[in-house]
Amino acid sequence: MTTATNSVNSMTSQFSEDQQQVLIVEDEPNISSFARMYLEAAGFDVLVAERGDEGLELAEKEKPDLVILDLMLPGMDGYEVTKRLRQDGQIPIIMLTARDDPVDKVVGLELGADDYLTKPFNPRELVARARAVLRRAEAPPEGPTAPENTVLEVDTLRVEVGGREVFVDGEGISLTPKEFDLLVALIENRGLVLTREQLLERVWGFTFLGDSRTIDVHVRQLRRKLGDACPIQTVWGTGYKVAADR
Ligand code: CA
Repeated sequence: MTTATNSVNSMTSQFSEDQQQVLIVEDEPNISSFARMYLEAAGFDVLVAERGDEGLELAEKEKPDLVILDLMLPGMDGYEVTKRLRQDGQIPIIMLTARDDPVDKVVGLELGADDYLTKPFNPRELVARARAVLRRAEAPPEGPTAPENTVLEVDTLRVEVGGREVFVDGEGISLTPKEFDLLVALIENRGLVLTREQLLERVWGFTFLGDSRTIDVHVRQLRRKLGDACPIQTVWGTGYKVAADR
């Protein structure tokens, strides 16, 4: 196995323009070198940082296509790095969590990570997730199928699909991309119950391994942000819907 963490800057120049770049921020060298080996074999240009603050700096400097981010890091933790990265861009983020702790996942997703993996992970799974996340980031035909100029209205809620803007009583509400897509998917299918799996498939483009809680978290956020104007109803034991007559 090659050394993973030393020659960060020297690694960038030898790769061609169209090669996609992945930044791994991970303080455990055995994990980062393992991940690097598989990602490089899959054709990615890989950068590695060991500390959270270094990772953030490198992300801002190199503008990688994807960041794979450990949660517990020296310097700055993964939550904080995600928050900072989200302030000035939409670089896709896959978060690594140390153990199967649903709280970590939920918080990570709420902060805006695009996916997560629990350590120890299968490196092939990591490569597959990286490709999936990049595919979604490049081609956002995910989510709304309505024409760009479509405006969806439910009572006091107004959704401008093309501009990706949401208003309640004329006042703009700030939603994350996933919250927006989830809301549109449900409104477009007004009157139908959509299962969590259908929503994952529709909004995330694939199924998180058995983790339908992701949907619950995003619905909770939508309800919090939209208040009484949130048209999403829970259908116990099945999923969610927006009533046809609203
Ligand atoms: Ca760590």
